[in-house]
Amino acid sequence: MTDAPLRPAGVPAGGSDDTSIPIRVRPEIAALPPYKQGKQADAGGFKLSSNENPFDPLPGVLEAVRAASALNRYPDATAARLCARIAERFDVDVRAVHVAAGSVSILAQLVLATSGPGDEVVFAWRSFEAYPWLAIVSGATPVRVPLTEDARHDLPAMAAAVTPRTRAILVCSPNNPTGPIVTQTEFDEFLTAVPRDVLIILDEAYAEFVTDPDAVDGMRVLGTKGHANVMALRTFSKAFGLAGLRIGYAIGHPRILDAARSTSIPLSVTAQAEEAALASLDAERALLERVHTIAERRDRVAAALRATGWRVPAAQGNFVWLPAGAETMDIAEAFDEGGLIVRPFAGDGLRITVGEEESVEKVLAIAASVVEDLPQAHPGRGLA
Ligand code: PMP
Repeated sequence: MTDAPLRPAGVPAGGSDDTSIPIRVRPEIAALPPYKQGKQADAGGFKLSSNENPFDPLPGVLEAVRAASALNRYPDATAARLCARIAERFDVDVRAVHVAAGSVSILAQLVLATSGPGDEVVFAWRSFEAYPWLAIVSGATPVRVPLTEDARHDLPAMAAAVTPRTRAILVCSPNNPTGPIVTQTEFDEFLTAVPRDVLIILDEAYAEFVTDPDAVDGMRVLGTKGHANVMALRTFSKAFGLAGLRIGYAIGHPRILDAARSTSIPLSVTAQAEEAALASLDAERALLERVHTIAERRDRVAAALRATGWRVPAAQGNFVWLPAGAETMDIAEAFDEGGLIVRPFAGDGLRITVGEEESVEKVLAIAASVVEDLPQAHPGRGLA
């Protein structure tokens, strides 16, 4: 007996870097780094790397999932009950709502539906890692517009980056991974500067955590101004704590949503996810309490980090950003050794999710000890 894994005859042992096989993968796809899942925390440690919610599911959610147990049946392809419920909650026509397996699925659908080879997809950078990847997978060209000094979207520069080839613009508020929001005023001005045939996708994955009253609100944009080229995206993964079930939604013009549906993989939203989302919407009061707890914890963490000398940008999601620059990977290692898995972006900075209360003291202690070793002129130092 050997411990070698069993392989069907004819399947070679090559790894993902083996280029000797004759299959022609699209060159832009072959050039993408293979997906690597983040590390899991050891016992006693904390995983603060994926902006997950530290709380158990909201009241009624587990029971609803258990009740939806017809695993031999396909789900309702349109998640009609959830669409109706979301339409009611935001007072929009049900045809203006689309549900999919996570808001990242809807991002993919919208980019695929609008942008192909020769087209451009504009977004701020640094922002959500999936953006460049989604553009490349659809065959389009990603166009990255640098954030401002204080890690915010530079909307005038994004509007100026629009060309006749631009098909979609992704605006992330609050911005993952840096934290600041886009204001309603900035967004309104941006709308007037962008041609009406360019789709503006407002990614509001962290909307529920926002406490800044000046922040853009996708539902207000859609409701009062009726901009047909704006699509607002939200998710049950973050504030509602359903990341593992994969469910998110978009609100926007039915014609654009029909195009998104045409690109989607059918039947991806499970009945369990739909029931969990419905039950979560019923638990509004408990949701608000949790969101309040996390937002308060976030403000406390950001203030304490600034007090120790870190230059932390405005934090409006469930995470904070340390602009650690060239020292990013070393600092991530220091957190790792202290039992905290954070999300480093080499050469740029690291994002720390606001997680369990028990993790807060550890985060602050490690952050305080590493900032002392940074040179005075380091971009991560000084008050934001
Ligand atoms: N948008 C942003 C900005 C995100 O950070 C994430 C998740 N990290 C998503 C979209 C996707 O979330 P989901 O697919 O879980 O709804």
